Amino acid sequence: MSSATSYESTTSGHMCDMDRCVERTSLSIRNFGRRFYGCQHWSPNSDQACKFFKWLDKNTCPRGRATAPLVHERFTRYKDEAATARNERDEARAMGAEAQEWERIAKCKAGKTKIALRIAEDKVYKYRLALLLSWIVVRVYFVFSTVFGGHGHRLLCLP
Ligand SMILES: [Zn+2]
Repeated sequence: MSSATSYESTTSGHMCDMDRCVERTSLSIRNFGRRFYGCQHWSPNSDQACKFFKWLDKNTCPRGRATAPLVHERFTRYKDEAATARNERDEARAMGAEAQEWERIAKCKAGKTKIALRIAEDKVYKYRLALLLSWIVVRVYFVFSTVFGGHGHRLLCLP
């Protein structure tokens, strides 16, 4: 990294100096915890920053350098755990969406089954009604045939 009092960016057309810069803290193992001034337009994955840079603190103390790997290790572990949690969350969402689709299909089938049951019940009612009417007709026929003689029996015999 370079040290400068001012720097003009050629890519974004701005100029950084000590009046227009941002104080940040290094998290690298070599300079862990060491503050510096950097470009006001710096952000991860951006090419808008110029190369303005100036250390504010002196070198990281030996204790800080010894602690940095531990912090990095823990940070990496947390990052991995966060990634795992995100994956599990995404899987849970996918399973939830699948379950909702199955529920929708089941409700649709239940609705169709309900309609089929209603149709079947209507048919049963009509068949019972037809059976009752035919029984009444037969009973009336027998009453009339008994009252008015047995001639009608031959007319209703099946071939
Ligand atoms: Zn800048």
